[in-house]
Amino acid sequence: MWHLAEIFNDLTVVAIPTRTNFRGVSVREAALFRGPAGWSEFSPFVEYNVAESEPWLVAALEGAYKPWPELMRNTIGINATLPKVEINRVYEILRRFPGAKTVKIKVDDFESDNYLVEAALDFNPDFKIRLDVNGGWDLETALLNLYNYYLRFGKVFEYIEQPCLEIADLVKLKKEIPIKIAIDESIRKGLNSDFTSAKDFADVAIIKWAPCGGISRANKLIAKIGLPAVISSALDTGIGISHGLALAASQKELNFECGLATTSLFVSDVVSPEIEITAGTIAVKRTEPDEDLINKYSAAPDRKIWWQKRIEQIWDTGFGERWQHE
Ligand SMILES: [Mg+2]
Repeated sequence: MWHLAEIFNDLTVVAIPTRTNFRGVSVREAALFRGPAGWSEFSPFVEYNVAESEPWLVAALEGAYKPWPELMRNTIGINATLPKVEINRVYEILRRFPGAKTVKIKVDDFESDNYLVEAALDFNPDFKIRLDVNGGWDLETALLNLYNYYLRFGKVFEYIEQPCLEIADLVKLKKEIPIKIAIDESIRKGLNSDFTSAKDFADVAIIKWAPCGGISRANKLIAKIGLPAVISSALDTGIGISHGLALAASQKELNFECGLATTSLFVSDVVSPEIEITAGTIAVKRTEPDEDLINKYSAAPDRKIWWQKRIEQIWDTGFGERWQHE
């Protein structure tokens, strides 16, 4: 028996094909397990190292061992997510987010990706548009691309997510553009940064359950950053998503639609009850694996061993000790 099996009860690893290539992922692997509070998920992307994966393990254990905090609402408004796809697939992707009022679109630049904005607005002329650049632009490129987007589409943009990686670039950009700026990588890659000047370079904070280390740590981080939060996810299965929904539901104020409908990008989810989008919202509930779906999307045996070793590697840095005394 695996020596951590009593902590990670009924650990099972799933491999779910995605409908489109999303950040280079076409099969999403996730380790699911349960504890006294319910089912949880550990699924840092496979290329993440031990240090990057540790907060995901903190989140995973919190999800299995701690009850959810007080929830202020029982449904969460969600945004659609449009990865870079061929134009003839845009409709097929967007209709998987019924009733969504906002769409987040991944873009590289104006030249090659403005067709995605065009197609999304054809699908729903009232869409609020978020562009996610994943920090891909320097200041000059950001100014040029955003000028073009704004010139072509006008005031449809709710915000632009991580246009540049450098804080100095974001500070300058914020003074120049009439569009709000959201930060994602600035937070995820700088969890211990001092965010006292966050208002100088951003308007919105993207907060994700797993990379932020779970609900309790995420809520402390939101308070520290002091910007309105958009609760989002990292291509989690419906188990991780349920914890993201609880994080969103625990907010006193929630003024933006959340990026928690990404299971629509999977060929199938693996949970019951199914995560259903109704009029652009999802109900906040704990979920658990559905036996038939788990069998269908179960990963190969060597992948389960790989995930167990991955957990052990983090555990062996002293994590286990720290966690058990927390
Ligand atoms: Mg992002």
